Amino acid sequence: MAEVKLVGISKIYQGTEKAVNSVDINVRDKEFVVLVGPSGCGKSTTLRMIAGLEEVTEGELYIDDKRVNDVAPKNRDIAMVFQNYALYPHMTVYDNMAFGLKLRKYSKDEIKKRVDHAAAILGIEELLNRKPKELSGGQRQRVAVGRAIVRKPKVFLFDEPLSNLDAKLRVQMRTEISKLHQTLGATMIYVTHDQTEAMTMGDRIVIMKDGFIQQIDSPLNIYNNPVNKFVAGFIGSPAMNFVEGEIDNNGSLSFVSQNGDFKIDLGERYGHLKEFTGKKVSLGIRPENINDSAFNDGTIGIEVNVKLEVIEPMGNEMFIYFKLAGEQCIGRVSPDFKGNSGEEVKIFLDLKRIHFFDQTSGEAIQ
Ligand code: ADP
Repeated sequence: MAEVKLVGISKIYQGTEKAVNSVDINVRDKEFVVLVGPSGCGKSTTLRMIAGLEEVTEGELYIDDKRVNDVAPKNRDIAMVFQNYALYPHMTVYDNMAFGLKLRKYSKDEIKKRVDHAAAILGIEELLNRKPKELSGGQRQRVAVGRAIVRKPKVFLFDEPLSNLDAKLRVQMRTEISKLHQTLGATMIYVTHDQTEAMTMGDRIVIMKDGFIQQIDSPLNIYNNPVNKFVAGFIGSPAMNFVEGEIDNNGSLSFVSQNGDFKIDLGERYGHLKEFTGKKVSLGIRPENINDSAFNDGTIGIEVNVKLEVIEPMGNEMFIYFKLAGEQCIGRVSPDFKGNSGEEVKIFLDLKRIHFFDQTSGEAIQ
């Protein structure tokens, strides 16, 4: 069992505003939870408080129902993997992995058993006698993970572990860490600024901004039902398109863009927007919900004429750039899309997949 519970956790660095603000997170046993958000939102600070590397200013931190606010890092039964690997340069891979166990006075046999086992899981048996400088970035990262595995900790913490790797290796290591999570059946908390890592690795994602939690949910729930405009724009690549405008109920309930160029009838589906009549809202639509013909389920969608600015063939799909009501937008259409930059084309917006946000609060209008 390894649950981690953060109750009203805040961090104030001396002379600064709250870096982390009253955060509540309940990480379940064997869960993979990803903390994600832009740089400076407080993810690392949160992780470092769990590890015991930063003091908790306010709130309670529990590991398996034991309050650990005042427990020293080495007694928390947690292992952390850092972005810069933090390997000892003068030691071999074997000794790097064995070091923590030696300090804890494990027997030589037990240490060998654990290091060999971890090396086998990570496929680094051949590297045990090398020094870190004789390893590639990906291999170093594996050693850093290996050093955590041998400890058999209750909880693994990862602080941007893949940031120093090139794009291809990052994708590969992402899968390896996900597999490792399944193999070890351990509780893992993972910090990243990369929304793709969060989406692909997390059982649940915690999205943070300015020290506050914005939303905690499964990747798909967050993708489909973002609670506010920030989350909607942060998760998804290319990002969700936004058009600013107002709800109008003159004759029929509709959304009218700020510049008046673009108007859609909202009909029954968005009837709940009636109470926002006269209010400013943002309309959000994801690039894949813009198409050049009918959608998969046969719906045609809302037809709009736009002028193509740029087209980017990606092989399996095509990105099209255009302005909608004066706002820069991206559509993700089929590779057979016919149209050249500078041309006027018809595109369709999937009316079922439109999001609305209150412009003042940024909150989603459900
Ligand atoms: P993230 O990991 O999301 O990039 P951090 O947790 O590192 O963000 O930082 C959150 C906020 O706390 C930032 O505003 C950062 O400048 C501040 N901060 C981080 N570490 C310290 C520190 N040791 N002293 C003062 N402020 C810090």
